Amino acid sequence: MRLILLGPPGAGKGTQAKMLTQKFNIPQISTGDILRKAVKDDTEIGQRAKQFMDGGCLVPDDLVIDLIKERIREPDCQNGFILDGFPRTNVQAEKLTETLKAMNVDIDAVVEFRVNPEEVVNRLTGRSTCSECGAMFHETSRPPKQAGICDHCGGALSKRPDDNKDTILKRLDVFKNETEPLKDFYRKQGTLKTAEGSGTAEEIFDRVCAMIS
Ligand code: ADP
Ligand code: ZN
Repeated sequence: MRLILLGPPGAGKGTQAKMLTQKFNIPQISTGDILRKAVKDDTEIGQRAKQFMDGGCLVPDDLVIDLIKERIREPDCQNGFILDGFPRTNVQAEKLTETLKAMNVDIDAVVEFRVNPEEVVNRLTGRSTCSECGAMFHETSRPPKQAGICDHCGGALSKRPDDNKDTILKRLDVFKNETEPLKDFYRKQGTLKTAEGSGTAEEIFDRVCAMIS
């Protein structure tokens, strides 16, 4: 199963990707996570990406394209993968199509999540993530039992530096201009499916599973 998750920041792509990973036993490939790790490890890619990420802008295409090209050829991707946050521009989508063609494989479905922008701002400003296990919490909808501490592993929770209101609005704008047009690209390819992105994670997951099975 090869899936692409498409949707604005805060649409719940990461949460759904993690649930899909467990169900289908295929890896989640999140360019955002890969880039954040590169920033944390202070690699060359991380140093190039940081300024763009902090400002809510996309990093240059060549940076993520090379990264993805290598990643989807790794052995754990043989039975499929879930792309979370890639492609995000026309150039990325075209390069991905080329790469998959060369590998002789196809995307099974592109799942688009629809959510309203106010909901997104609320979800992201209240969000925190465990620095150890990656679990996500929200100050009102999914608060940790003890403030600042992960329920699952006791790790410290932290907020992403780009989860502040101004940067969120910028990211939404970038999504609208650069990424949303990809819906047409995949609609023409016949792979686009639209999921209503409101409700609990479990409700959304059921919708997604019904669509792709
Ligand atoms: P979100 O979807 O909530 O904005 P991500 O974790 O997917 O968060 O991405 C965080 C940041 O990483 C983006 O704002 C952007 O700077 C960078 N990034 C991630 N994926 C891509 C991509 N495919 N192309 C360009 N930049 C990307
Ligand atoms: Zn944890």
